[in-house]
Amino acid sequence: MINFDNSYARLPAHFYAKQTPVPVAKPEFFARNQDLAAEIGLGPIDVDDAAYFGGNKIPQGATPIAQAYSGHQFGGWSPQLGDGRAVLLGEIITPQGERRDVQLKGSGRTPFSRGGDGRAWLGPVMREYLVSEAMHALGVPTTRALAAVTTGETVVRDTPLPGAILTRVAASHIRVGTFQFFAARGDLDALGLLRDHVMERHYPDASDTVALYKAIIEKQAKLIAKWMSVGFIHGVMNTDNMSISGETIDYGPCAFMDDYQSGKVFSSIDRNGRYAYNRQADMGIWNLAQLGTALLPLMGEDTDAMIEVATAALHEFPDIFQTEWDRLFLRKIGIDDAQDGDKDRVVAFLKILEQTGSDFSNSFAALATDTPETLLPRSSEMTTWLSDWRDRVTDPVTVLQATNPAVIPRNHQIEAAIQAGVQGDFKPFDVLGRVLGTPFEFAETNQEFAIAPNKEQEVTQTFCGT
Ligand code: AMP
Ligand code: MG
Repeated sequence: MINFDNSYARLPAHFYAKQTPVPVAKPEFFARNQDLAAEIGLGPIDVDDAAYFGGNKIPQGATPIAQAYSGHQFGGWSPQLGDGRAVLLGEIITPQGERRDVQLKGSGRTPFSRGGDGRAWLGPVMREYLVSEAMHALGVPTTRALAAVTTGETVVRDTPLPGAILTRVAASHIRVGTFQFFAARGDLDALGLLRDHVMERHYPDASDTVALYKAIIEKQAKLIAKWMSVGFIHGVMNTDNMSISGETIDYGPCAFMDDYQSGKVFSSIDRNGRYAYNRQADMGIWNLAQLGTALLPLMGEDTDAMIEVATAALHEFPDIFQTEWDRLFLRKIGIDDAQDGDKDRVVAFLKILEQTGSDFSNSFAALATDTPETLLPRSSEMTTWLSDWRDRVTDPVTVLQATNPAVIPRNHQIEAAIQAGVQGDFKPFDVLGRVLGTPFEFAETNQEFAIAPNKEQEVTQTFCGT
């Protein structure tokens, strides 16, 4: 590996713990993302490189660290989190001059592991690989998956399971919880250094802390609108899982909706539906309020005045979110020149989907075909909707095929790929990954993956399964 430059490791020592990955018995690739490797300037990943991706060898120039952070988990404050099963090898500068973190996830215990074993089992590694790469292909900002290995070791969850390590690439791994970590300790020097680091790295146009806060709010509002537009439910939007750069991060219990239910929850641990599909914007605001609180001491001397400034900035979120939501969902019905009444068309369509228990993605994809009525639920409401829509929208097929994905990462298909992977068969994983790489291809060969699950196949719950 080449070109490491570790700006985070140059920050003061209490930002992280120096930590090398704990070697594993037998690292073997089951996935290598050669396209991403080329994109970030790594060059082809060779089979013999598995030792690096399993943490048995450290690439030259890397300074492995586990990053410190805090976070609100399901609303409750956890003062001490941090990378408990991951190490940041370092940052590489891409040929485009962009800085990218390279992190091993599942790489062994760190000082932040608390009771955990620092490991990951194969299932969540496969899930994150497939879903994060699918999100990228769908045009949603996200961390990426560079490679994944099995470790040749067993990790014990409910039962013994094969261990695995994911190599994740991100603009950075700085979270809302990273700011909270220093704010909660009253460490204003560190808070200021972190702000400067983030401004230089992610928001060079922000002139001060308030401008930075506003820029982060805008990024998150637009990101969450994008999630909504593809039916994505993050599932664990804790403040330690909200990236400052505006990328989607942490694919624990995430899921794409099959049938449209506005209040859909998948995560087994989200008992109160805190992170339900239709609550994600509100939870984004909640998290950003925590960020505002953390940044407040840097905003200015007059705390009361700054609370007003920060509050006003946060109150921009709903508008930014709604404008982006409108834009994206109007495009999903083939409209990019909004007129009065268009938004009602979107809302009405969604309502019919919810009432008829129809598949979210496939119903929108149906609009991209020549004969939507043969694919959409048969109801008098839908017939009326379609005839009104046809009057409004002319020739939507081409634009809609570039907007509404034909394939999304469906839970039942991911589960099937994982089950095969546990048996040592990675063919279903490879095939699914390939199909998800071109989600807007309405090709015959992808049809199998476009089919919504039947009742027996449907996955109704996801597990963090770390
Ligand atoms: P997450 O639910 O993935 O956001 O993780 C929350 C916290 O738990 C983070 O500090 C993780 O590093 C830590 N954690 C999760 N799984 C493990 C594990 N197997 N071993 C050690 N720490 C873990
Ligand atoms: Mg996390």
